[in-house]
Amino acid sequence: MQRLATPLVLLVLSATIASCVKNPYAATNRFYKQQARDFTRSLQTMPAAPDSVPAGRYSVGTTNFNLRKPNYVIIHHTAQHSVDETLKTFTLPRSQVSAHYVIGRDGQTYHMLNDYLRAWHGGVARWGNVTDVNSCSIGIELDNDGTEPFAEAQITSLLRVLSSLKRAYNIPAANFIGHGDIAPTRKNDPSALFPWPKLAERGFGLWYDAAVLTDTTAAPFALDSLGGVGPGITPREALRIIGYDTRDLPAAVSAFKRHFASAESGTELTEQDRRILFNLYRKCL
Ligand SMILES: [Zn+2]
Repeated sequence: MQRLATPLVLLVLSATIASCVKNPYAATNRFYKQQARDFTRSLQTMPAAPDSVPAGRYSVGTTNFNLRKPNYVIIHHTAQHSVDETLKTFTLPRSQVSAHYVIGRDGQTYHMLNDYLRAWHGGVARWGNVTDVNSCSIGIELDNDGTEPFAEAQITSLLRVLSSLKRAYNIPAANFIGHGDIAPTRKNDPSALFPWPKLAERGFGLWYDAAVLTDTTAAPFALDSLGGVGPGITPREALRIIGYDTRDLPAAVSAFKRHFASAESGTELTEQDRRILFNLYRKCL
């Protein structure tokens, strides 16, 4: 009896202590709940036609609807030195930045915003014809200073978050991309150390067929003197079809190389880069 009682007492004590730990974010959590209540109220009002058109005779709401779902996942590194630093930044109204998820080096994951709400993580960005990336995406920030390898526990948690998002919202593999991909002139995250191939193996993100690097017959084109990546296909066209904003071509090439050919950086496409680019382009047609 005595032997059983001691662990029980310890358990009760530790539970009591845990429940007494003060949440340093209690005040900003109240702010979050108030914001969510305000949005709820505005969603509950019946929609009305714009003033510029004659309204119908009745107010009629449809019976058939649900919430819009995110269709992209944008991965970032924080370029900061700790999760605490990032949590503070994302709970400071004047910073005007946020993300849905923040994942620490130890794998601890903070879900900071309901997936159905719009986080401010993409900034001015573009992918294909999508010009408001924040409105259709989930933002995930990885605690990483931008020069270090990504911790294993962190990637394990990331893969679990991605699985649950993919399952919940049916997000296509090609729509898991990086911040540097959608804002090539401004951003370089996640860094070239990010393990995209590991993600692609599990269906998160596009990847090329390894055979194109070694098997020259697998690439049905001659690298032409005009610098094309395939018959009549310029690098700009191939990058554009994949989704890159090519208005600044060197920036788009650099973003592509960071994501898909991390052994090399810069704004020049090597023969290997061209093979990879053409292979990915064909997957996106
Ligand atoms: Zn970012």
